[in-house]
Amino acid sequence: MSHILVYIAATDGKVKRSSLEVLSHCRKLASENGLKLTAAVLDADPSRYTETLSKYGPDTIFTVKHPVFGNHLNTPVIEALSNIISDSAPRLVAFASTESAKEVMGALSARHQAGALPDVASFTLNGDVVEAERPVMSAKVLSLTSSNSPLVMVSVRSGSYDATEQPGTAAVQEVAFDFDTAGLKNVLKEVLSSAGDKVDLSEAEVVVAAGRGIKDADGVKLVEDLADALGAAIGASRAVTESGLFPATLQIGQTGKVVSPQLYFAVGISGAIQHVAGMANSKVIVAINKDPDAPIFQYATYGLVGDLFKILPLLTEQIRSVKAG
Ligand SMILES: Cc1cc2nc3c(=O)[nH]c(=O)nc-3n(C[C@H](O)[C@H](O)[C@H](O)COP(=O)(O)OP(=O)(O)OC[C@H]3O[C@@H](n4cnc5c(N)ncnc54)[C@H](O)[C@@H]3O)c2cc1C
Repeated sequence: MSHILVYIAATDGKVKRSSLEVLSHCRKLASENGLKLTAAVLDADPSRYTETLSKYGPDTIFTVKHPVFGNHLNTPVIEALSNIISDSAPRLVAFASTESAKEVMGALSARHQAGALPDVASFTLNGDVVEAERPVMSAKVLSLTSSNSPLVMVSVRSGSYDATEQPGTAAVQEVAFDFDTAGLKNVLKEVLSSAGDKVDLSEAEVVVAAGRGIKDADGVKLVEDLADALGAAIGASRAVTESGLFPATLQIGQTGKVVSPQLYFAVGISGAIQHVAGMANSKVIVAINKDPDAPIFQYATYGLVGDLFKILPLLTEQIRSVKAG
């Protein structure tokens, strides 16, 4: 029986939430189409991920163990996945849409003559056809694309699906991988992370994002206090990263990061389409803005119209006192 293969992105002993979202959706597609569900995890010690993965219902977990996976490089990932694809002939290969997936999926699609549907917001498999919706033009419109290629690869934007557990008894299959690191044309020397990245923005459950309305260092402090009280990651609009109040690594939007937290605070952000492109998948959006006509309110679940310099201290104090019981 053919299968749907999900590539699992995982680092530092933790599986990325976006991969679990893809795995959960593929479990549904596999069962609807009478296919098996498989997951591939590549790591210096992949066994540390199998317990978590088995909670999401794959029939088989392919583990590829090699020291080269200690620091992420696309070349060995492409080689190992290519071997699994050649040996097991999946119907569909699915990735969480990450920077790495762009190159890995592109290379694998070319090598295996697969149809490629990158960066989709939703997708279905009905018999011979994979159909996907993909946000284009800064997410102003959705394009509907499809492929009836015998092998299709798809990468999925984070937050498109819920990660839902369905524990099963996954078989773990170790895949031998012979890789000569001497042939590598690039090496990863160091991973630099900004001092502001206390919580990984792309994976965060709660994000407090700052816009131009925060104005200065006093506004920065209020945003940091709120994020601290919530245990949230900090994000920012481009207006703020360009002003230097927060580093460019925290920019959310078309030319920044795409986030999909359970809770998103937009603080002094107008809601330009380029910003919304990076946060529209957030589950609950709270907008704080003094302009009642700010476009961000069109996307907000809850809107607070008022001066953020008055609202934020009260909000932070309330959250701290609720948390303190
Ligand atoms: C090609 C391109 C790519 C881009 N990519 C991105 C991107 O990736 N991410 C991104 O964010 N932008 C991006 N932009 C820029 C985008 O168009 C906007 O200019 C930017 O998002 C505006 O940021 P802002 O909402 O913080 O600022 P503004 O639009 O200036 O809004 C500030 C808001 O703060 C409110 N405010 C002011 N003072 C207070 C107060 N005291 N209390 C409460 N509210 C207050 C105002 O009412 C206003 O709504 C891009 C633009 C282009 C052309």
